[in-house]
Amino acid sequence: MDNISYIGIGSNQGDPLTNCTVAIEHICASGHSRLLDQSSFYHTEPWGYRDQDDFINLVIKIETSLSPLDLLSFLQGVERKLAKKQDIPWGPRTIDLDILFYNNDILESSQLTIPHSFVCQRGFVLHPLEEIAPHLTHPVYNQTISQLLDSLDDDNQVIKLPKERT
Ligand code: ADP
Ligand code: MG
Repeated sequence: MDNISYIGIGSNQGDPLTNCTVAIEHICASGHSRLLDQSSFYHTEPWGYRDQDDFINLVIKIETSLSPLDLLSFLQGVERKLAKKQDIPWGPRTIDLDILFYNNDILESSQLTIPHSFVCQRGFVLHPLEEIAPHLTHPVYNQTISQLLDSLDDDNQVIKLPKERT
């Protein structure tokens, strides 16, 4: 299990806190991936498609024996297990699981882009990431998460929830 990956988790349908927690449980129960760290939960305004409910987002750090593509398939399986039908791009979803980083790898294919394409543009990703990995360096931009957050141009609200409320 010697690969390190950061996964972005989001939900804005049903009971978002429970959906995120259940997704983490699926990842931990898998046998091939282990939870190393977890950010707080964040209450966030929708990004991209605005006419929908606010999201709950967080980021986890895992250790995994899966390759990037196998990790993507596994996470898509978890999404399918939890998900209701989703029609609108960036629209409402029961659960969204994104591979933000995988080791220091840079990958670009039709199925999978690593680091995730929108890491640098999304406050709902950068804020929770900064909480658990401020010094992590983006392998394409060669900037740390803290530096990326300093130059972030995203006005959407991202509110960290106190741990005891989650
Ligand atoms: P987003 O997560 O950007 O809001 P979606 O979840 O709807 O959008 O996008 C899903 C698609 O993104 C999947 O078909 C998947 O193949 C592709 N994809 C590309 N790179 C990644 C990545 N790093 N993590 C997760 N999905 C990715
Ligand atoms: Mg996604």
